[in-house]
Amino acid sequence: MNLHEYQAAELFAAQGIPTNGGAVASTPGEAEVIARGAGGVVVVKAQVHSGGRGKAGGVKLARTPQEARAAAEAILGLEIRGHIVRKVLVAPGADIAQEFYLGVSLDRTRRQNVVIASGEGGVDIEEVARERPERIVRALVDPLLGIHPWQARQIGFALGIAFDKVAGFATITRALYDTYIAEDATLAEINPLVLTGAGDWLALDAKMSIDDNALFRHPDFEALRDLDEEVATEVDARQSGISFVKLDGDIGCIVNGAGLAMATMDAVKLHGGEPANFLDVGGGASADQVAQAFALVTADPHVRAILINIFGGITRGDVVAQGIAEARERVAVTVPIVVRLSGTNAAEGQKLLAASGLIATESMDDAAAEAVRAAHAA
Ligand code: GDP
Ligand code: MN
Repeated sequence: MNLHEYQAAELFAAQGIPTNGGAVASTPGEAEVIARGAGGVVVVKAQVHSGGRGKAGGVKLARTPQEARAAAEAILGLEIRGHIVRKVLVAPGADIAQEFYLGVSLDRTRRQNVVIASGEGGVDIEEVARERPERIVRALVDPLLGIHPWQARQIGFALGIAFDKVAGFATITRALYDTYIAEDATLAEINPLVLTGAGDWLALDAKMSIDDNALFRHPDFEALRDLDEEVATEVDARQSGISFVKLDGDIGCIVNGAGLAMATMDAVKLHGGEPANFLDVGGGASADQVAQAFALVTADPHVRAILINIFGGITRGDVVAQGIAEARERVAVTVPIVVRLSGTNAAEGQKLLAASGLIATESMDDAAAEAVRAAHAA
């Protein structure tokens, strides 16, 4: 789950990181009022779950409340990398002397959290990593000890930060790491972290992603969720207890069990196809769940064939087949459906499926091949 800049900035501020406050507006009029209250120069910033807002015209400085109104008018409704802007943050303008990048994330290969920092802030960090990797400092953090004060200072020195500013940088680095851990984040990022003309540290941007698997520990985050920013079918899936991730291919997959779902996607790719989604209906695969799965998969107009791969262990094959037949009565499916059913009572299940005009196959490999063929023929 991603947070908006203003939400992440509040979490950072709560840990003592200096941020530049401000308030959120959803109309130009509101932006004008906030700007008048702030007095002086303000920055008007698009609140979308996407980076690159600056380049896309989603960040504008305004000297007067009228200019703030005009800036909000220009930014609200803008589309930035596929995200429509519905809210802007209006915050006091900052006088930037130097921009840095500071982030905490998980290094999956090393199985440790990592602090990433660079003296080239404000720009795309992926671009810096690609073109000037020597400008990026990385420090792995011991999961038991956390980040040491000396380690945070060492990162500051490696960036070439002036001696009298390193302590402030180290405090912010440790606070960012602590926020990342406390909130079960997968990413906590400040880009740019700036030194102002007056020589103060200030976080000018805030980005956080929370680990979905840890959300049960943070019930408060439910209120921070912005459904406008999420894929509609993924929201539906979450509400009905189905694990669903939308992908870009054209073969819809309905599978029971996460491991089997991943193996199914591999099989599709092996036969030259592309999965349209990852979908795990869970253990039971009842008629309700299968109907819900059909609805999710067919909501995607790119889907040209559906591959159902069910292994019946505790669940019986004939019950699953019954569920599929019932679900098809409830949800109109026009694309070809290929089913591989295996396990307990598979033969009875297959008989039922064949009678209802589905392509029933013996093995998972055959099913993937059939689905790819059907999609290409469509
Ligand atoms: P992003 O492009 O989505 O990462 O949005 P940011 O919040 O990082 O803003 C983009 C850029 O706008 C920053 O790198 C800064 O250079 C600039 N910027 C943001 N806020 C201010 C501000 O208050 N004053 C000035 N002068 N520039 C700002
Ligand atoms: Mn930024």
